[in-house]
Amino acid sequence: MSKLHLYKYKGDKCQHCEKSISEVLSRYGVIKRIFEFHHIKPELKDPNYSNLIKQKTSTKQLKELDKCVLLCSECHKILHSQNDNVELELRIALNERVISKKISGWLITDHISKIKKFITDEAYLLQPYVLKTKNKEEIYIAFEILNEPSILFNLVNNLDDNDELSLYSLANMTQVFFAKRTSDQLNIDIHSLFRIVNIETLGSFKGQNFWVQGGFFLDESNTAISDFNIHLTAEAGKLILNNIV
Ligand SMILES: [Zn+2]
Ligand SMILES: [Zn+2]
Repeated sequence: MSKLHLYKYKGDKCQHCEKSISEVLSRYGVIKRIFEFHHIKPELKDPNYSNLIKQKTSTKQLKELDKCVLLCSECHKILHSQNDNVELELRIALNERVISKKISGWLITDHISKIKKFITDEAYLLQPYVLKTKNKEEIYIAFEILNEPSILFNLVNNLDDNDELSLYSLANMTQVFFAKRTSDQLNIDIHSLFRIVNIETLGSFKGQNFWVQGGFFLDESNTAISDFNIHLTAEAGKLILNNIV
């Protein structure tokens, strides 16, 4: 089965040399064995990884890929050959609250350009957001906190009638998430700029499961769509896809 949708999910290019999947495909017509997933923490690699990666999209598969970065096979070999595993600590201050995060990664050193490149998939988790609720204050919140399992979806579930909640990316003030409850219906809009991770299957569409994760819409038939806005409604606790644009 093609892994193209998984490559897209992980950025569609080698995180070190930036060689892209489409570049290789259009130039050589093949992709097999040219790109690989590297586990940032190899000790967390699923023992059944090679089977899991061949199967159709699942929560388990996406969670496994969340532990990885995409590299071309040459850069992957250089990374393992240099074997320079490091941990950095990043801090951001939001409303006098300091949030810090230790980030594991690998350094690849270029001895000619004297550049060390830090290879990780975790950095964006510190991205700040503003949460706005009707008649209430704005809350500044880091993705790191939103990412804790189901915090956002608990907030959504606890909305009262006619209440709404929206989430803006502080980087560009784009609305990335919106939820509103009206009588018996719950409407949710999600923008692809909102890189939700750490969720279970988001909902179902024509009997198939789908996920909105890492800035992508993914479904069981192995499509990966970036740059979208999806509209969901909840009925009887289940999220149903209305449309994707
Ligand atoms: Zn590379
Ligand atoms: Zn590796």
